[in-house]
Amino acid sequence: MSPSGAEVIRQIKQQVEEVDPAEVSEHQGNGVVLVDVREGEEWDRGHIPGAVHVPRGYLESRIDGAVPDRDARVILYCASGQRSALAAHTLKELLGFSDVASMTGGITLWKDRGYEVEVPKVLTPEQKERYGRHLLLPEIGTEGQARLLDAKVLLLGAGGLGAPTALYLAAAGVGTLGIVDDDEVDLSNLQRQVIHTTDRIGMPKVDSAEATIKALNPDVDVVKHPVRLDASNIMEIIDGYDVIVDGVDNFPTRYLLNDATVRLDIPVVSASILGFDGQLSVFKPHDGPCYRCLYPVPPPAELAPSCGANGVLGVLPGTMGLLQATEVVKLVTGIGEPLIGRLLLYEALGATFTELKVRRDPECPICSREPSEISDAEMGVFPDYEAFCAAAG
Ligand SMILES: [Zn+2]
Repeated sequence: MSPSGAEVIRQIKQQVEEVDPAEVSEHQGNGVVLVDVREGEEWDRGHIPGAVHVPRGYLESRIDGAVPDRDARVILYCASGQRSALAAHTLKELLGFSDVASMTGGITLWKDRGYEVEVPKVLTPEQKERYGRHLLLPEIGTEGQARLLDAKVLLLGAGGLGAPTALYLAAAGVGTLGIVDDDEVDLSNLQRQVIHTTDRIGMPKVDSAEATIKALNPDVDVVKHPVRLDASNIMEIIDGYDVIVDGVDNFPTRYLLNDATVRLDIPVVSASILGFDGQLSVFKPHDGPCYRCLYPVPPPAELAPSCGANGVLGVLPGTMGLLQATEVVKLVTGIGEPLIGRLLLYEALGATFTELKVRRDPECPICSREPSEISDAEMGVFPDYEAFCAAAG
């Protein structure tokens, strides 16, 4: 007579090494791979921090992705220790893993002992549908989407660069979008500032941007800062944001922003445009050069675009703004190679991209020092801007 299911389980458990939750807790992270073999809904309700998720039903097909080394120490757990024992048996007998154990009592006993459980962010059914194309990308998935939803991104300016960046970051589900802009929508903006509309001429840009973002994606919280960024308010405004998107059009603010973000250790995705040309880089404090490493002194005043109205091809800020949005998504989700230490030049008329390496200046007056040493008085120190523009004629 064939043995009963319960009898088979009992026999398999005798052949599998079982370890106590105390031992798992002690050795966690020391080269031990902890694998949760429960179903997706069980994992979502809470799992052991640092564990990887391979449901038992997908064990054979997915274990190589999660644990490529067959000689690694692998500890499996489930809810009570039964499914993990069976899975451990499979790994050992059928897949040739050499050092496999199952945790006694599963996550139930783990919790009873008072050990930590991590509850992952769960997307609502509507969010699963809205962000479905992100969820299909293994590089982003639920975890990456949850990071985007938790992210706080500050846009400096709801103008040419800020408008397309804000639209796509809102669509991508960045949970908090701060916008600094003290301007109002003007007819001449609409050639490129696609977040605003003709019927909103005269409306504050932060309100117009908020209306468009909310209509696009109600998941996004818009934090409006209808002010001009200066030395008196910058630290207060930027503190707490994860990434800053710099679309400001003047050098004094760029220097001020650089010094403040180095102090607070906030990465800046910076772009500028003029005529048919655009530039883009990511300044991640202490990981790469800062803005002052790239431009130790301001460019000649006659080249400073904000000293007067300059022409710009209307679609150019769209191109550069979307490259900025792409860098933001990469920084937030931790995927890809952000444009740190690289300056990307785009020349629209020739349709060419050129990349220049930018090195950190060991003598940089700002980023070569400890952030705490940078005083308020030094921040954004730069020749008087009125005089600077006047000199340019
Ligand atoms: Zn620097």
